[in-house]
Amino acid sequence: MDIARCAEDGQIYLAVTFAALPSLDLERMRQQLSCPECGGPAFFRKASRSGRAACFGARPHHPGCNLAAQDTERVIEGEGTDLDVLNNPAERIVIDLGFGGRSQEIHSDHNEAYGQTGRAYRYTGGNHRPDARMHRRLSSLLRTLIEAPYFSESQQLLEIPNQPEIRVCDFFVPLLEVNSSLQSKIRGWWGLVSDAKNGSDNSLWLNSGRKGTFSICLPTDMCALVLDRFRLEDNEQIAGAYVLAIADLRISANGKMYCVIESPNHIAIRLT
Ligand SMILES: [Zn+2]
Repeated sequence: MDIARCAEDGQIYLAVTFAALPSLDLERMRQQLSCPECGGPAFFRKASRSGRAACFGARPHHPGCNLAAQDTERVIEGEGTDLDVLNNPAERIVIDLGFGGRSQEIHSDHNEAYGQTGRAYRYTGGNHRPDARMHRRLSSLLRTLIEAPYFSESQQLLEIPNQPEIRVCDFFVPLLEVNSSLQSKIRGWWGLVSDAKNGSDNSLWLNSGRKGTFSICLPTDMCALVLDRFRLEDNEQIAGAYVLAIADLRISANGKMYCVIESPNHIAIRLT
């Protein structure tokens, strides 16, 4: 869309005007944008080297917003993006974290231990249970979350390496709904990124909004691999991109909510 409102000053900006702001102002204000009509959170993306003009987009618009038609969303296909999860609603879904075959486990620094609540999480045999498990990569699950909103409400069970099984509806958490009650929980954090910035150590931070809101951190040594895997030329392409990351929620001393991915295989990015 051509225009967006910035909460910092309440002004409605044209994308070209916003692009001309001093960079420090722009970096701060781009995290506080919304659609002027429906109020949905928005993002700003600078002009691309390939010639695409600076633009705003919604993350997303509320239903029925008249400005939605201006967002010419162009989802760029990634690998392994089938939607058959939806056609097999009774199946269990095994999240495949091995990019290229090797299976991986997820560990929490905060020790979300098995059986903390006294429940037996693991199937140990004995009861009859249909063995109908489908393996899906993160990129495939991200596409399903985007294209089939009802999937995130599903009661289907997810199996994640080294984690208790969990229902789909309990596992995937929209970036804008992350809250401190989920501290130390491993979840699938997903949604549209407002902007991406390098930290002082060259780690990469994918933000969901203004300072203090949830961010996903890619450690320095993983950035190049992740950018390459999703064919990202620069951080700017990540503004307004969809992301799904699996990690535990951390909260800093000053209340910042974030997660740090443990492996390049624990994140999927889908450009718009
Ligand atoms: Zn809107």
